[in-house]
Amino acid sequence: MTQGEATVVKNAGSGYVLAPLPEWTLFPAVLRGKIRLKQSPITNPVAVGDRVRYEMDRHASGGPGKGTGDGPTAVITEVLPRRNYVIRRSTNLSRQAHIIAANVDMAYIIVSLYFPEIKLPFLDRILVTCEVYGIPATIVLSKVDLYRDEAREQTEAFHAIYEGAGYRVIDTSVVTGEGVAEIREACKGHINLLSGESGVGKSSLIKALDPSLDPKVGVISTAHLQGKHTTSLYEMYPLETGGYVIDSPGLRGFGLVDLEKGEIARYFPEMLRASEGCRFTPCTHTHEPGCAVKSAVEAGTIAPERYNSYLGMLEDDQKFR
Ligand code: GDP
Ligand code: ZN
Repeated sequence: MTQGEATVVKNAGSGYVLAPLPEWTLFPAVLRGKIRLKQSPITNPVAVGDRVRYEMDRHASGGPGKGTGDGPTAVITEVLPRRNYVIRRSTNLSRQAHIIAANVDMAYIIVSLYFPEIKLPFLDRILVTCEVYGIPATIVLSKVDLYRDEAREQTEAFHAIYEGAGYRVIDTSVVTGEGVAEIREACKGHINLLSGESGVGKSSLIKALDPSLDPKVGVISTAHLQGKHTTSLYEMYPLETGGYVIDSPGLRGFGLVDLEKGEIARYFPEMLRASEGCRFTPCTHTHEPGCAVKSAVEAGTIAPERYNSYLGMLEDDQKFR
């Protein structure tokens, strides 16, 4: 019996594909029955990005091979502790949750100012969610060739709001190639989650990062996986220049975390920093005298757009759950 550690790069039905990253050598795996979670709201015990321990029967033919069909099937015996993970709930009220990805180094939140038009409160909820999950976020402003010259003020204002909050904002265009090399460089050596509403240009960006990838088709063949249910939403791709991307369809589904009202401000990094100066603790930053967050909004060091998103989330936290 041989044993090893590897990363889950695809989950399709009851089958998994593992790779001993950083080496991109794929082999199929199944779960040992007892790992399956009982009485848990999580529907998948193992997710893309998980580091797992596996056992492989050496007497079976081959060994880890180049494709998923060359080697024997490994048995996942243990999921190693996660640094972080992103959850999606089937519906707002559902108790069932699905782990989209684990051990993510960076989330790239792809938005376009106009095509389709971004709503800042929506972006802010995604950013809060990343903060809650402990995943650093970078904002990708896509398709800038289409609007930046015509809407220079708005584009600069967008940068000011989010860079002021502490986020990196990268302008990109797959038409001019702007920003692509910067993201490619930043992806090296990391597991990166790329997320964006349909139509923002996520697939185009992935193809620009690595022309050999076609996210609409997927890159890992599942023909040899056990269980012929091969629908797989989440899959990790290797970038030929280094690093990995996980393509995550849609953003809406992961704007759903359980937060107490009093906690929300902690996940706006610029408000968290300012709140050290508030006279009262806890402070909701709404009506309290001596509130440093409100002073910062008045002084213009916290963007009113971000503060308004915060107020919206306070009012609306039923929907946010
Ligand atoms: P996805 O749904 O987020 O994967 O978006 P796609 O990559 O399929 O892109 C949606 C549409 O936007 C397509 O018609 C693309 O050709 C177009 N598009 C994507 N990126 C850019 C860009 O940087 N500039 C321009 N002008 N169009 C883009
Ligand atoms: Zn305050």
